[in-house]
Amino acid sequence: MAELRVLNKDKKSSTVKDSAALTTQLAAGLEKIGLAMKSRTWRREGRAGLGPLQRQVLMLLQSKPEQRARVSTVANELAVRLPTASEVIATLERKQLVRRRHDMSDRRVVVAQLTAKGNRACTPTSRMPDRLATATEALSEPEQVILLTSLVKMIRSLQEQGEISATRMCVSCQFFRPNQHDNAERPHHCDYLKAPFSDSSLRLNCQVYEPASTAQVNQTWASFIGSRTA
Ligand code: SF4
Repeated sequence: MAELRVLNKDKKSSTVKDSAALTTQLAAGLEKIGLAMKSRTWRREGRAGLGPLQRQVLMLLQSKPEQRARVSTVANELAVRLPTASEVIATLERKQLVRRRHDMSDRRVVVAQLTAKGNRACTPTSRMPDRLATATEALSEPEQVILLTSLVKMIRSLQEQGEISATRMCVSCQFFRPNQHDNAERPHHCDYLKAPFSDSSLRLNCQVYEPASTAQVNQTWASFIGSRTA
């Protein structure tokens, strides 16, 4: 009996070590993808010749009323420093994808607005580097869905750690009703679209997103995650 207890204890310790090794490996893998996305080759080969942060700025502007936002808003929402946001916007202006103006209501404030060319660069086919699309296509459809829901969880964790600001995800949207339907294929409901939808249709950057209150987000998250941990 004593021996069994020792074996169980050792097994538990080994399981803990295995899971620590796995999280280390996953973090290393994600870092490698992050490094690859910063590589010059990758940036050059993006269809619009855009780096990841440049694309994020364009997509953020596209989601705003009149496709414009203060530079400080861009910095806040993308969780980057103000000089970094200013530099990226200046680069996008040189590429004629964005124009900068002083805010009419406060001349000290600089506003960035998407140009028609910038808007075209946000189309689904041009905003994602081919290599990233190819890499995700290497996964089976069930694997893609698992990756998508895993990304949702990781993004939320990074938000809670203060590493990234709120993104326009279903799980923090006031229209999201998780697990509302008795339908394993499409259990969730969007009150804006008035339609059920599946995990594979969860949005990470929805155009019609409206932020929910903190209380609603916490409640929604508990309901969304509850069925996965049961
Ligand atoms: S409006 Fe968009 S973000 Fe909100 S629940 Fe519907 S699909 Fe998701």
